[in-house]
Amino acid sequence: PGEHTGESAGAGPTGGAGAAGEPLIELRGVNKHFGQLHVLQDIDLTVDRGEVVVVIGPSGSGKSTLCRAINRLETVESGTILIEGQPLPAEGKGLAKLRAEVGMVFQSFNLFAHKTVLQNVTLAQVKVRKRGRAEAEAKGRRLLERVGLAAHEDKYPAQLSGGQQQRVAIARALAMDPKALLFDEPTSALDPEMINEVLEVMRALAAEGMTMVVVTHEMGFARSAANRVVFMADGRIVEDRVPEEFFADPRSERARDFLSKIL
Ligand code: ADP
Ligand code: MG
Repeated sequence: PGEHTGESAGAGPTGGAGAAGEPLIELRGVNKHFGQLHVLQDIDLTVDRGEVVVVIGPSGSGKSTLCRAINRLETVESGTILIEGQPLPAEGKGLAKLRAEVGMVFQSFNLFAHKTVLQNVTLAQVKVRKRGRAEAEAKGRRLLERVGLAAHEDKYPAQLSGGQQQRVAIARALAMDPKALLFDEPTSALDPEMINEVLEVMRALAAEGMTMVVVTHEMGFARSAANRVVFMADGRIVEDRVPEEFFADPRSERARDFLSKIL
């Protein structure tokens, strides 16, 4: 992705006005508890425009909570979270706009079950982005084509495989012209033979300069597509390094232990 950062400025797929290499997502001193559990501990993390940051770590280490906090699906107790230098909106209309601009793709797809594929990629364009129906459908069709699902626009989610549903979810997020995308274990619910078709779409986005935070156990993706690997354990960022260095020489005992279990 690094080679493409020049192209991602301005009219690139992120659609943003800023230049590659500027901070897009910033967390400073972020803390959150669930009861006694200190689930995010003094989190400092900056994701620059055009960067792909893969977040890994044991189950329960706070990866999902981190993503959800960036999208304000969870509130935090202290610290600041900034998108393009602006604090997250507290409530109201600002939240829908935030979630359009920082899209999220979930493990469980979260498509609208009673809407067709085309409606899934069109609805929020009309409601949140205030596009006309024809414009929204045209854009939706372009994106379905891009994720290889042009032939399926009239189907309902239940008629698609998991890999196809997840590609619709990615197209739906892209339809909002997001500045960044968050992926929370996007392939963990998929049968093995469908994992690659989703990773391929994500690799293409990364190569085009999309800013991405990706929680995943797919270490091949981390090695090939990430600019940085963030390793979390017990609510803390333990390592934040370029993938080659992290995989060749994890510094922390926690990371060495984690890698020995999954590789
Ligand atoms: P990960 O995604 O790394 O597996 P999570 O961010 O989902 O971790 O969860 C971190 C910890 O917080 C876990 O121990 C989990 O059980 C707990 N947790 C997550 N969500 C809630 C919640 N809404 N209420 C209480 N505890 C939660
Ligand atoms: Mg999780």
